[in-house]
Amino acid sequence: MKNIYNILKNSCAAVLLLFLSNVADADALQIVYPKTMNTDISAASTFIIGSTAPDAKLKINDIDVKVHDNGSFVQVVTLSDGKNEIKIDSQDTQNHDTVTYIINRVPPKISESAQAALEEFAPDEFIYATVLNNNTPLRAQPDEYAKRLTHLDKNTVLMINGKKGDYYRVSLSPAENAWVKADCVIKYSTINQKMLASASRVSLSEDRLYNYIKTDLSFQIPFKIVETDNGLTMELYNIEKNAADTLLFETTGDVKSLTVNSVSPDKTSTYYIELKDKLWGYRAYYDDNTLVLKIRKVPDIDKEKPLKNITIFLDAGHGGCDTGAIGPTGQKEKDINLDVVKKLKKVLEDEGAKVLLTREDDTNIPLYDRVKMIQDSDALISLSIHANALADGADPYVKHGTSVFYYNRESVELAKTMRDEIIKKLGTKDDGVGLYSLVMTRPSMPLSVLIEVAYMIHPEEYKLLLDENFRQKAAESIRDGLTEYLLRSVKP
Ligand SMILES: [Zn+2]
Repeated sequence: MKNIYNILKNSCAAVLLLFLSNVADADALQIVYPKTMNTDISAASTFIIGSTAPDAKLKINDIDVKVHDNGSFVQVVTLSDGKNEIKIDSQDTQNHDTVTYIINRVPPKISESAQAALEEFAPDEFIYATVLNNNTPLRAQPDEYAKRLTHLDKNTVLMINGKKGDYYRVSLSPAENAWVKADCVIKYSTINQKMLASASRVSLSEDRLYNYIKTDLSFQIPFKIVETDNGLTMELYNIEKNAADTLLFETTGDVKSLTVNSVSPDKTSTYYIELKDKLWGYRAYYDDNTLVLKIRKVPDIDKEKPLKNITIFLDAGHGGCDTGAIGPTGQKEKDINLDVVKKLKKVLEDEGAKVLLTREDDTNIPLYDRVKMIQDSDALISLSIHANALADGADPYVKHGTSVFYYNRESVELAKTMRDEIIKKLGTKDDGVGLYSLVMTRPSMPLSVLIEVAYMIHPEEYKLLLDENFRQKAAESIRDGLTEYLLRSVKP
């Protein structure tokens, strides 16, 4: 029964069965992690997470393990190379359950591309290719986990000058190469000279919420944007002529100045954008062959009621078949996230905020669909709400608490303020503010952070997450974080 339970647990069809089985044997030994009874792990340790009768005596490989008052237990187990047998034994007045898990410690997988030989093209020989889909990552190394340098729009023209495994090497300038997954591009012919674009017009415009810097190009070329102390720089690659060479735009509105550098000998053109206020979000994209850089204007913040008329997008992490982390007694992260989001929506609306949600019920919305919903809105801030878990190799008794993740520099202050206010109100351990490349943290507009309220796999924090009052306080602490952030952002 436990075997089937564990195998089925991750499939959608098993959700109802799982629910019923939880109710049926609430006091029997249940293991929620590892997810299967025979599993491969490359880390030096794993943890056994589950629940049993609160009064049970529990041993894992003959070592006594603490059972918390809701029956939860979490135990770190060190792994030897090869096969590890882990015997879990639970005994109370009524039941005696024993189950053995097999964990094979295997060497970490090395990606094929990392091992593959580099195919170097002849100097000045390039393959001309175009990008298949929007939001294609251009990476620093030929590896799916390597740093993202930028994202490419569909139809961007790339000059390929090498290959390694599944990746093409893309020439941005004589001094700078980057990597794109081979199946993300369409390859055309080999050419003996780089194709270079030219710009016929650079213009500035604005509407109620945004400033726009538009560059009309002969075709789409790669570009990269970097956040600076007072605005942004944007670098265009593989360009031979820019209409705005050395021209300085004195501007009104929120863009203080725009300087477009002459095309340099390495065939790049750099835009220096200085803003009057801090950066409130930006996004660059192609509209046909026009490169549009859209910059969020400074919002109107009411000092007395900072959240009034501010649009906030809330994302309850996971949903549907994607349960997120599972706590020791089988409760799912997706349900906790949704409840916190609903409570948060209420307290934000009470302060006059406009609140939008990626999901309002238990549905599984793909991550990039959530991002599209968020980016298509005019929201100022996006918060993705989660409850945390760890990967094998970590110790849940050491690493726990509240953490907030960001990706873009513009969101660092938001992340720190959220963390400060949440731990102040909830009394949770500070698990840090971190730069983390996640689908929900990567958007540069709206300002985006992901909040891990507490850990599903820390027995005490799990107990708190299951407490309605704690979730209400969590929602209020997040509201306080937003209020504080907006207040601090108002110029005196
Ligand atoms: Zn999550």
